[in-house]
Amino acid sequence: MRQSSASAATELVEQTHLVLIVDDDLMARRLLSKTLSKEGFQIVEASNGQEALDQVVLRMPDIILMDVEMPIMNGFDACEQLRALYPDLSLPLTLAVLGHRVRYLLRTSQTMNALANSIQALDRSKDLLSKAQSIAKLGSWEIDRETGHMTWSEELRRLLDCENDQSTSSIDALLNRAHPEDRSGLRSWFEQLVTGKGTTSYNHRVVHSDGSTHYMQQQVSTRQADSEQPGSLYGTSQDVSVQHEHQEQIRQLAYYDSLTGLPNREHFMRRIKQSLEHHKRDNSKFAVMFLDVDNFKRVNDTLGHRIGDLLLETIAERLQHAIRKNTAACGDRSSEEDSLVARFGGDEFTLMIGQINEREDAGVIASRILETVHAPMQLSGHELVISPSIGIAIFPDDANNVDDILKNADAAMYTAKRAGKNAFRFFEEPMNSTALRQLTIENELRKAIDRNEFSLEYQPQLDVETNEIIGLEALIRWNSQTLGLVAPGQFIPVAEGSNLISEVGTWVLRTATAQMKQWLDDGLNLKRLAINISVRQFMEPGFVALVASALAENDLPAQKIELEITESLLMQDVEHAIEILAELKELGVELAIDDFGTGYSSLNYLKRFPIDRLKIDQAFVREILTNSDDAAITRAVIAMATSMQLGVIAEGVETIEQLNYLRTLECSVVQGFHLSRPLSVEAVPGFLQRLILLGLIRSP
Ligand code: C2E
Ligand code: CA
Ligand code: CA
Repeated sequence: MRQSSASAATELVEQTHLVLIVDDDLMARRLLSKTLSKEGFQIVEASNGQEALDQVVLRMPDIILMDVEMPIMNGFDACEQLRALYPDLSLPLTLAVLGHRVRYLLRTSQTMNALANSIQALDRSKDLLSKAQSIAKLGSWEIDRETGHMTWSEELRRLLDCENDQSTSSIDALLNRAHPEDRSGLRSWFEQLVTGKGTTSYNHRVVHSDGSTHYMQQQVSTRQADSEQPGSLYGTSQDVSVQHEHQEQIRQLAYYDSLTGLPNREHFMRRIKQSLEHHKRDNSKFAVMFLDVDNFKRVNDTLGHRIGDLLLETIAERLQHAIRKNTAACGDRSSEEDSLVARFGGDEFTLMIGQINEREDAGVIASRILETVHAPMQLSGHELVISPSIGIAIFPDDANNVDDILKNADAAMYTAKRAGKNAFRFFEEPMNSTALRQLTIENELRKAIDRNEFSLEYQPQLDVETNEIIGLEALIRWNSQTLGLVAPGQFIPVAEGSNLISEVGTWVLRTATAQMKQWLDDGLNLKRLAINISVRQFMEPGFVALVASALAENDLPAQKIELEITESLLMQDVEHAIEILAELKELGVELAIDDFGTGYSSLNYLKRFPIDRLKIDQAFVREILTNSDDAAITRAVIAMATSMQLGVIAEGVETIEQLNYLRTLECSVVQGFHLSRPLSVEAVPGFLQRLILLGLIRSP
């Protein structure tokens, strides 16, 4: 025993190792120092933990012999700090707890013996460590930051499958052992490490000579990732193939269907989400198909689940084949990554097809899939011919989020089934967007009166010959709480299509008559107020009575009101229209035919309508200077009106040129933006006042 420890000690001495002795007891330090220097050791001393740390940083001894109880910093604290500073420090042997014993041993002249024991313990622990590393498949390496030189541990050599080749241990040699596809990534990881950047770990593959692929995890000590610290980088390499395999199994269970091996629902959803982002970014289309096997339940029930399973597996294969064929036809790698077949559940499969330029592209693929799946199949002695139904939804045309695109493809699939199966269908809006808008408008209209969302604007009508404001036309405005401002051109037809028009019309009639009364009472010189009446309401029983009551309620002379009725609609039931017009005329209100020129009134009827005025539709006025037909029609209407002693108003007059031209045609009454836009109630008196001040109209 003594013999062997002595020889171990001699070996150590021959390499002149540096021993750091840490003790506050000067005597003990000197004694130990003397004894060890005699044996050829180099000695450094420190009288407390702090000094010891300084010495370690300065000299990096090969071994530290340290007392426990010391002033300033005790042995335990010093050990702890040392470990924090150098997490991977393996060379120095810290004998914190042995300190007392060493001193004791020294004092009893057994220094060498103790040291030898320690060395043996070190050897044992080295041995243990190497065994543990081998079990953990953990190798280690060190890179000199300045020279870039790398050293490997024995275990690393084994892990890289180059045990027999002792010559190589460099970054390049390690890179050479890595899977070719992983090399450039690993190289830049090492490069970043050397410059003090990068992540602490990197995974890559190594292919062994027996052909097996191993997954390795390189890990660097974080301390050394600090760029301010020159010196060496220490790292470990671990074979994590088993963990990798477990992860793969978990992934497989979580994201793949166990029967067909296809991606499952979760996987599919994730992929569409990713695709959606990427297609949004480059503004491109992709298709999602929902495929359901027709009458699958019958196969399952009559031939059993085993055949049912085989059937699903066969379909899975055929779908994958069809997709591969398609991407091969596209010859585009990105489309391959962008396409996916999944088993969504039961007998439902979903497909994602990237790179769709037109809807038709998806149609072509779908019909190919139908054909492929429809081909006869042999399933353990049974010949089966089955058909699928396919629904297609296109991003972004049919939907722009994951849920909607699947929902719509599913809906399209049901349409295909209803259409007789073995077919594909594109998603179609069950209700096109205008119909949806109309439905929303209708719903909101119902609440509009109660919520007081309507108001009226008034557009002046001027006779430029006599300089007289002959009237104002009331135009309804709707500021909806939910839809915002909605133009009458949008909601009046909806109101007419539902039974809401009479409610709206009644409100207009009452509000307009009350307003007119107010203005007259305020002393405004207004000849009359034109109110638009929907023919739907006009034809309703009780309409004349309604007008009469509105007038009576406001104590307003009937001549102060003009009702505008659209020409085209009057013609639908001419006789009835004439009856009502006559009754209204009897009441004393003025009557105008709106949008004149657009309907088909024959002169014959026109003669029988007891009306006062024609309003030339703004469509003619708009083009009056540029379109000779429009000019001719306008001229004819004016001539006809004059001959029938009817008044004429040109509406939609926007420019002075249009106005001047109309004057040459002897139409002097105009309405339009040139004179004024429709005005709010409050703006009307001011407007009239301004015209009087400018001398454009006469004062009352
Ligand atoms: P409309 O009876 O032909 O009314 C004239 C339309 O032309 C108004 O549009 C008016 O703002 C617009 N307009 C006036 N001057 C010009 C111009 O110089 N240039 C152009 N481009 N447009 C001009 P608005 O207010 O949007 O009304 C549209 C239609 O809605 C009306 O056509 C009328 O048919 C209907 N409407 C409006 N208010 C009511 C109402 O109270 N009851 C009923 N039943 N229908 C109404
Ligand atoms: Ca009108
Ligand atoms: Ca009009």
